[in-house]
Amino acid sequence: MQKRILITGGAGFIGSHLCETLLSRGHHVICLDNFFTGHRQNVAHLLSNDRFEIIRHDITSPLSIEADMIYNMACPASPVHYQFDPIKTMKTSVLGAMHLLEEARRTKARILQASTSEVYGDPEIHPQTESYRGNVNPIGIRACYDEGKRAAETLFFDYERQYGTEIRVVRIFNTYGPRMDPNDGRVVSNFIVQALKGEELTIYGDGSQTRSFCYVDDLVRGIIGLMEVDGFTGPMNLGNDGEFTVKELAEMVLELTGSKSKITYLPLPQDDPIKRRPDLGLAREKIGYAPTVPLREGLVRTIEYFRKII
Ligand code: NAD
Ligand code: UDP
Repeated sequence: MQKRILITGGAGFIGSHLCETLLSRGHHVICLDNFFTGHRQNVAHLLSNDRFEIIRHDITSPLSIEADMIYNMACPASPVHYQFDPIKTMKTSVLGAMHLLEEARRTKARILQASTSEVYGDPEIHPQTESYRGNVNPIGIRACYDEGKRAAETLFFDYERQYGTEIRVVRIFNTYGPRMDPNDGRVVSNFIVQALKGEELTIYGDGSQTRSFCYVDDLVRGIIGLMEVDGFTGPMNLGNDGEFTVKELAEMVLELTGSKSKITYLPLPQDDPIKRRPDLGLAREKIGYAPTVPLREGLVRTIEYFRKII
């Protein structure tokens, strides 16, 4: 059945893929964005669709929109961007969640929060299951993002308990793919852009820290799966459980681009997690989720995209 779906942060990297997929499934999509890190260009190909609307708004201010479902994707996700104005980042997570939850309460919309693996901080258990409560430095430079997302999760579950709001919470692990902003400082986009431009690849620390990289199409399928399943709120991990060191990633990007770039080593930023890998058991059990795109294949597709835009 066709639904009216509000996607905040819809002009961003993941949000734009979500807009595209939900439109292709016949829904009416309202893309809302303040264009801090998102770009109109990311959704330009959707503008001619009658079922697509775009609204410039900042979720730190209240709003009034009738929708059947709300995907709250709005928040800068890369450390460079969320640390640019940390107070604003906290406001986006906390005030933004409150405003959208109030809308969901008023309209009885089902609402999904894009939370993050960062709620686990620098994890002491590995891989991370949803029952792990995390190891976050509340006063560090990543706290505006990590603690903001943790507070947003609290608000979601309080709205469910207090008002019966239909919530969904997904904890997204590092995701990459076409439409990542080439300047947003994340490791996959940085390495690909550096390799294609023949610049040195910047490894922070010794490159032994690990991440699990998920191709955006897999993630979007999982997010919609959680939103559409009945009787389960999450929190649910989504990502890809292949685990790679940052150095392995750099070497793979050099090989796949055929670049002659060298690697340079820079200081590791404060509170940078040493390892990260999702336990996907719950996602498999509740929505039959399994990632399908291996890192190598996802990188090839992403490199192809960056070759066109830089
Ligand atoms: P992104 O920066 O490309 O997209 C975020 C979008 O939100 C942008 O379009 C931006 O302009 C918009 N936005 C930011 N603040 C806003 C505000 N106050 N009001 C309205 N719009 C606002 O990042 P992304 O990678 O697409 O991430 C989308 C969501 O997924 C974020 O909530 C992020 O925290 C979460 N997430 C992403 C990853 C990842 O690896 N990409 C991992 C974990 C969680
Ligand atoms: N990183 C790196 N070089 C870069 C950008 C990031 O070595 O040019 C490292 C970063 O220190 C972290 C990992 O890659 O250990 C992933 O960083 P990203 O910002 O992509 O995501 P997050 O830290 O939020 O997982």
